[in-house]
Amino acid sequence: MARLAGFRAFLSPVERELFHWWPGHDALFVELVGCNARCPWCPRETIAHATPTEVEGLLQVFESSHERVVLTGGEVAVNIEQVLEFLDEAQKSGCEVAVKTCGLVCEEALADLSRRVSACVVYVFGTDEVYERYLSIPRGFARVLTSLEILVRRGVHVEVSYLALPGVNTQPEVARPVFEALRELDVVVHLRRCVPGSEFKGRLPATNRDLQRLYRLAQAVGLPYVYITDAWSGPWRNTFCRSCGELLIERVGWFVSRVRLDGASCPRCGARVPLVGRARESISLRFLDLPHYILTP
Ligand code: SF4
Repeated sequence: MARLAGFRAFLSPVERELFHWWPGHDALFVELVGCNARCPWCPRETIAHATPTEVEGLLQVFESSHERVVLTGGEVAVNIEQVLEFLDEAQKSGCEVAVKTCGLVCEEALADLSRRVSACVVYVFGTDEVYERYLSIPRGFARVLTSLEILVRRGVHVEVSYLALPGVNTQPEVARPVFEALRELDVVVHLRRCVPGSEFKGRLPATNRDLQRLYRLAQAVGLPYVYITDAWSGPWRNTFCRSCGELLIERVGWFVSRVRLDGASCPRCGARVPLVGRARESISLRFLDLPHYILTP
């Protein structure tokens, strides 16, 4: 694995994080160190809890040309200066960038990011009570919602990742109010299994049944595009028309196996699907060897 100062980079299908952003394409994933949250379940402790000032040489990724980059981590905003410099360089070279955030970011940083990025992946953990109890952050979900509203208002494509963990946020009384709030924002929602690390290491992750229960709840609440991102195949990974239910994009693992779209619209009823970029079938299974790290120290 390539490890540069404060980040690592590898090539992957975008479906690793996003389903409605260039479906079927690949992107360079750049994982930055540092996070401003201290989730006791953090599955990426070694990345998230490293010192952000370690990040150096980020612009080196432009030495090889990429049309799409996903900046992930951690929380990208803790490295905001380097990230903004990176995004300016990306804009100059015509590269589209998606960033990952946990949404606990000041409005100024969000504004700076939203002027430069094409998409945001926002991680959500539950209601205010969850943020207060486990992260000691008062009104945490309200703050994340405000961030989501700002991003949506500024025209950034947003996909939410709900990191499911039994005993924390898989109970309907926690998940339902979150889903109801997200429904109002009309964003894409991923249900992800948290494999607990850090202080929660050894706790059991959510079962498929837990995730399917959450999926049914999200559908009952009326979320228009909801996925079980950790399912290998089946309806939970597929995109259906929100108006007529037609199957539009079929996925297997991190690959798009079938696209049935008329441009960005349903071929049956004409309803538009919120998509950034052209959806295509994954051109080969060349990524089965992933992770394939392409930078050398
Ligand atoms: S789980 Fe995500 S938001 Fe929480 S500490 Fe880890 S990287 Fe940060």
